[in-house]
Amino acid sequence: MTFMSNDASQAPADGAAGSDKIRCDACPVMCYIRPGATGACDRYANRDGELIRVDPHVLLERTLSHGGKIVPFQRVGDWDGKIVGQDKVFVTAIGAGTTYPDYKPAPFIVSSEIDGVDMVTVVTEGIFSYCGVKVKIDTDRYLGPEAATVRAQGEAVGLVITSEYGSQMLSLGGVHHLTGGTKKEGRVTCDVLMDLSNGKAVELAIDGGATVVVQAGKPPIVNGEPEERMRVGCGSATIGMFAKQWLGKVDEVVVVDDHITGVLSEHQAGKLLDIPETGIKMKGRRSTPGRYFQVAEPGTGWGGTNITDPLAILGPFDPRNARPGLRLLMVSTTGEHYAYFELDEALHPVEKPLPEALVLSVERIRENCEPALCTVLFMGGAGGSLRSGVTDNPVRLTRSVKDALTRVTSGGAPVYVWPGGGITFMVDVTEVPQGAFGYVPTPALVAPIEFTMRLSDYAALGGHMENVRPVTSLKDKAELLRRAPAVEAEPAAKTKTAAQP
Ligand code: SF4
Repeated sequence: MTFMSNDASQAPADGAAGSDKIRCDACPVMCYIRPGATGACDRYANRDGELIRVDPHVLLERTLSHGGKIVPFQRVGDWDGKIVGQDKVFVTAIGAGTTYPDYKPAPFIVSSEIDGVDMVTVVTEGIFSYCGVKVKIDTDRYLGPEAATVRAQGEAVGLVITSEYGSQMLSLGGVHHLTGGTKKEGRVTCDVLMDLSNGKAVELAIDGGATVVVQAGKPPIVNGEPEERMRVGCGSATIGMFAKQWLGKVDEVVVVDDHITGVLSEHQAGKLLDIPETGIKMKGRRSTPGRYFQVAEPGTGWGGTNITDPLAILGPFDPRNARPGLRLLMVSTTGEHYAYFELDEALHPVEKPLPEALVLSVERIRENCEPALCTVLFMGGAGGSLRSGVTDNPVRLTRSVKDALTRVTSGGAPVYVWPGGGITFMVDVTEVPQGAFGYVPTPALVAPIEFTMRLSDYAALGGHMENVRPVTSLKDKAELLRRAPAVEAEPAAKTKTAAQP
């Protein structure tokens, strides 16, 4: 069966719930859905009068937690009932559905025996109006000032936050962009979060800065230029790392960097190697010997500065220490930019081809730079209502998680749970099977979340024991056991065409 999109079904205001329509109560939108049509989120459909979850419910093999490949539940043929019941299977929340409003137990509360211990996994696709993504973009290139607004399709979807070593950081989404602005802002924010979480590329524009194409696990594209390398360190660190390799081959090295530009002869590493003064004069603010801040404005040129001519950051050489023929290497923290100079009789640097003896050291800098990638962490809070789908006393679930009695996962992927109140977690979206994230047009994101604990601990925290079912019982729910695409060595993914009788 294929389902058609059913625009008319989206609005509860559509009101006239004809006899052939059914109402979806899986989120606050409460769509009326015609037979053969899907609701506003495309996740639920009316199949012959029955409300079904369109996407397949994804089960994972437990090799995932040991770094193994995720295996689609079923690759070919009809399900033969053999896999469910083996203790290698992990029940994810992907495709499980939701139970809005949350006084209802989570869609699946599944028991299994693992290494002789009775365990239970509670799965639900949480609806997150309070959620966002943290984006780490490995690049020296300047993306924009801290706190600048990040836009998609012209709408504000987040902001630039503090940069970290070799990376620029963005914080996108959050309840204010999802719900506090215009309808379009909320919709675009929701789309951006879902696309990024599902591993798709998204173009973002930063006020007063660059445009950047972000895709989890892929190099960023800054102003149309794919980034290749992540810096080996700041300019000072680079001096420290490679000073010995320059000894005797060159008289002076400047590692150009927006944050800390390093100067070999003045640097502690140069002092320890007895490198004589060269009379070099740097522009910028001297921090400590051989370390300079603010040699130029931030930009997309050398070392994350706005310069294209490295000599622009040098003053005249001091004739008391400089001499004609003095050899100077200037290089960026990724080795992407470099130039070699020798001083002429007037002590002016004259560019010359890079000597063979220095080629290796520039290559060594490049070699030590890791590939530039974008990292996307989905971040959400499992609020009290979601927790009540797990237990009739929600705070006990929080305590159980903090006490490490309950393990939280998202689509089977390990999560980081923040200390402090609530269950606020982050997950690397590349570890979650593809297509695991959805949306509802409230707007909010839908993300899988699973809670796994001992059955006895589940009973103790007030779990919905009457809804616990053995993992083998899933075979009786044919609609749950649909085939994920048979992609070898790829994470199991959902498919929109998986609805089968
Ligand atoms: S938008 Fe909400 S109510 Fe409509 S089909 Fe999706 S989950 Fe159901």
